[in-house]
Amino acid sequence: MNKKQDIRDLSFPELEKYISSIGEKSYRAAQVFEWIYQKNVWSFDGMKNLSRDLRKKLAEEFVLKPHRTQDKQVAKDGTTKFLFGLDDHEKIETVLIPAKTRTTVCVSSQAGCKFGCKFCASGIGGWTRNLTPAEILTQILHVKEEARKHARPLSHIVFMGVGEPFDNYDNLMKAIRMINDEKGMNIGARRITVSTCGVIPKIRALAQESLQIELAISLHGFDNTSRNVLMPVNRKYPFDDLMAACRGYIRETRRQITFEYILIKDVTCTKEAARALKKAFRGIICKMNLIPYNPVSEFDHKTPTRQEIYLFRDRLKEFGIHATIRTPRGRDIDGACGQLRHAELSL
Ligand code: SAH
Repeated sequence: MNKKQDIRDLSFPELEKYISSIGEKSYRAAQVFEWIYQKNVWSFDGMKNLSRDLRKKLAEEFVLKPHRTQDKQVAKDGTTKFLFGLDDHEKIETVLIPAKTRTTVCVSSQAGCKFGCKFCASGIGGWTRNLTPAEILTQILHVKEEARKHARPLSHIVFMGVGEPFDNYDNLMKAIRMINDEKGMNIGARRITVSTCGVIPKIRALAQESLQIELAISLHGFDNTSRNVLMPVNRKYPFDDLMAACRGYIRETRRQITFEYILIKDVTCTKEAARALKKAFRGIICKMNLIPYNPVSEFDHKTPTRQEIYLFRDRLKEFGIHATIRTPRGRDIDGACGQLRHAELSL
């Protein structure tokens, strides 16, 4: 028996095409999209303005079901981490991060990660597979529903969960267009951020997409040598080439990039590092997010002291780099940056 397709793998034009192929009026596609992405129904039966016949046809052809929620943890600060089980028993994590002015979902793009950064929990168990557009979108639908329960509408999406979004580029882009589609979730492109460990060809590809989404680069090293040690991807896409690609992206899109920079005691948080960054960022106007290292037991890095963190930030400011310190959210439930690790939770 053929496995049924997940209807959330169909873009709006694809669904329209299917709907007309079965002799239905094309506006039905808009209704179906609205039920799925705006009214958050989890079954075709719930699509009350469709004929019984159409609902039956859709159910014969497609699946539309929630992810299995295997665990849900709520931190003191309201950050909520979901562990979802997929059909093939892979597990993924998704985090809801409520804040004063925004409610953000942190989305996973792959089951596991193959990039093996030497400070990140996600890479420890290796990589299994890419997530489909439907699996990406369904994470967001769950969090949207959860956010609504708290009377906090979901406003921002960040692809900063498990996996490397640019290693799953086509599925990512399809999902993003559906999130952005006014008939779909209708979330503005500027509220969607994709974070990459530095996959240069895809930085170039994104510049050509004419999408107004935000790009974040996980830089973490301050020069080629330090980045080689922390991020194996740097051997393939070296520091200077990455910075050149970022300059190209900024030039072509006229958009800013956010750089993420991890603060590891005596490694990335030194005077030498600040000086090297000054050199690397000459002429670049950007935002820089300083992320104090969140301890992961497999690595023996240390988090700098508060004083060291502020000193580093002030040094960068002096050098003309606008840097802000990212406060960790959901630390007590391992929901903070780099702490997502579905493999361990699945034991
Ligand atoms: N693969 C993408 C998406 C993951 S984003 C990327 O690398 O950008 C997750 C962010 O958390 C990245 O900036 C990552 O470098 C950072 N991070 C990973 N482990 C961390 C840790 N232990 N402490 C603080 N930040 C960490």
